[in-house]
Amino acid sequence: MRFQLDAEEREFESQVEAFIQAELDPELQRRVALSLEVPRAMRDDWTRKLNQVGWVAPNWPVEYGGTGWSMRRRHQFEVLMRKHHAPETQGFGFNMVGPAIIKYGSEAQKAYYLPKIRSAEIQWCQGYSEPGAGSDLAGLSTRAEIQGDHYCINGSKIWTSGAEQADHIFLLVRTDPDAKKQLGISFLLLRMDSPGITVEPLLAFNGKRLWNQVFFDDVRVPREDRLGEENAGWTVAKNLLGNERLMVSRVAENKRVLSRVKALFDELGLEADDQFKKRLGTIEIRLASLESMALRLLSKFDQGGHVGAEPSMLKLQGSQLIQAQDQLLFEIVQYYGLPVDGTLRRESSGPIGSPETEMIASALFHHRGYTIAGGASEIQKNIIAQQVLGL
Ligand SMILES: Cc1cc2nc3c(=O)[nH]c(=O)nc-3n(C[C@H](O)[C@H](O)[C@H](O)COP(=O)(O)OP(=O)(O)OC[C@H]3O[C@@H](n4cnc5c(N)ncnc54)[C@H](O)[C@@H]3O)c2cc1C
Repeated sequence: MRFQLDAEEREFESQVEAFIQAELDPELQRRVALSLEVPRAMRDDWTRKLNQVGWVAPNWPVEYGGTGWSMRRRHQFEVLMRKHHAPETQGFGFNMVGPAIIKYGSEAQKAYYLPKIRSAEIQWCQGYSEPGAGSDLAGLSTRAEIQGDHYCINGSKIWTSGAEQADHIFLLVRTDPDAKKQLGISFLLLRMDSPGITVEPLLAFNGKRLWNQVFFDDVRVPREDRLGEENAGWTVAKNLLGNERLMVSRVAENKRVLSRVKALFDELGLEADDQFKKRLGTIEIRLASLESMALRLLSKFDQGGHVGAEPSMLKLQGSQLIQAQDQLLFEIVQYYGLPVDGTLRRESSGPIGSPETEMIASALFHHRGYTIAGGASEIQKNIIAQQVLGL
């Protein structure tokens, strides 16, 4: 496993950087750099630009508009995108339901959905968690009763990120209440404007609408909008991430935040004391070791090796590292980081901190959720203990 780029990778880097330079709207770049809200139209515009050059779905097979890149090449692309503060494309579509449609979808589903994901026409949300089912997802109880050629859905989903903007939802529902819990679940694709769906906001610690609770009241869905076989939704859900589960290290995002930590320190003209140097050095060492572990696993996969539960280590470390960086950023700017989202302003002269500091507390609160989202840290530790360490 090597860290240095070879000639071909350097050439790729120049190509990607030239594209970013030419195509990335500076206002969009500024918003991403400062963790400000990115309007959907701006993000969609960037998605379409990536689609035009064929880079929008690095993880999809070439025949469906993907790139056919190795995992190592995907990692390099991701690092470059985050380094230049390009926005992330919508993960629910590109990394979750898109690959699932490719694997389990009918030809009609593939022909309908995949081009619309690539062109940003359809934005998705994920309907998995319920008030009574999170880590123990198979315990879900939202019911889809079969009524002729339709399902009739009743129940609710919670922590549904982005539901207020989404056009479609992918949903796990119980279709056979008498079967063993993993065996009675189906996977449905439906429009968010279906009659009977209500979306209620849930606010995060920073006052933002990070999630929603989505209620289903006699929502009718054609049976042909099921993905995969009836009662086999658990298999679809388990395979949903495919290779994507290897890309959980947040190395690219951690590198981006590290560059922000250093830039901000310089911009504010601060002197580094020994304690600060030690903390920054520790973060850099942890990041280097995380990247080396990620590259080792990605290279192993590219060479046909089996990667088991090891990505759980990447998920755990990557989320903890970004939180350590947030804490450091917050300590650098101190009370200038408090305006949170710019709503706390001096009467006449705008936000209290500079635009560079405005969103730091908000990002710190937001990233706390990384401990839980995508599988809580305790669950990752259980997996590592049992499947990696064999305890
Ligand atoms: C930022 C964010 C975005 C999210 N977006 C979505 C979304 O878009 N769609 C969606 O469906 N869900 C979403 N979720 C929900 C997320 O998937 C769940 O919160 C997660 O699965 C945990 O479930 P829970 O909240 O019910 O907690 P619980 O499962 O009740 O867990 C509570 C605590 O107990 C611990 N725990 C649980 N089981 C064990 C065990 N066996 N051993 C040791 N400890 C255990 C957990 O680690 C946790 O600390 C999101 C969550 C966050 C934070």
